[in-house]
Amino acid sequence: MITLSKKYKGKICVYCTTRPSVCGDHIVAKEFFPVAARSNLPQAPACNQCNTDKSALEQYAITILPFGSDHSTARDRLANKVPIMLSRNAKLKRELSAGMTSVWTRTAEGLLLSSKALPLDAYRIVSLFQFIVRGLAWHHWQTLIPKGYLVEVLTLSERGSTLFTDYLLRLSPQFREDVVLSDRVFQYTCTRNDQDSAFSAWHMQFYGVPAMAGSHPSGTMDAVHVCALTGPQEVIRPAIDKFLKS
Ligand SMILES: [Zn+2]
Repeated sequence: MITLSKKYKGKICVYCTTRPSVCGDHIVAKEFFPVAARSNLPQAPACNQCNTDKSALEQYAITILPFGSDHSTARDRLANKVPIMLSRNAKLKRELSAGMTSVWTRTAEGLLLSSKALPLDAYRIVSLFQFIVRGLAWHHWQTLIPKGYLVEVLTLSERGSTLFTDYLLRLSPQFREDVVLSDRVFQYTCTRNDQDSAFSAWHMQFYGVPAMAGSHPSGTMDAVHVCALTGPQEVIRPAIDKFLKS
């Protein structure tokens, strides 16, 4: 989503950190939000190429992430916006209907309900969250994640997410941000190293629920919590390996 403004032109693109920016990009696309809640969403300088690449990922995520939530905006997107988007995108429509299965979903009260579930393309969702983390790091700390640093997006179980929150998001409380956009359409918690602002940890969520993914032989779906770590490759890689084994 493009905003033409001098504020965002002629800088370095926060996503590729290479090309000059040509526009302000809405870090979390406007289309996730109700129309009345679209002003004042965070933006970052972006180049044409990154804006185009990110838009394609957003089209996918806007269609798929409202499934599995009873958030009023998610329901509205599903009823009104998703059918229009699918009618314009025959390829995605085919992809989704071919992968759609009946599954059992566990509600907050622990009941199992039969519902339609969609296959979540983890690669595209992870790629979008990588963009979002880079954008928000710039938004909060004017930080460009340098080359040689990783932006690792992890999809974690409930337990993994709790560990991540307890061990990493508690660090550097003076830099911790807890942000809720538009009644939990998007919310996130982040913190960063006090010496190095590109060394950071994130937990993010759309529509008040973890994304639903994976299919067990029993037909149940797992909630996946989207967390992310950015930092120097030689520090982040062993930390992630250790974390995923814990
Ligand atoms: Zn770029």
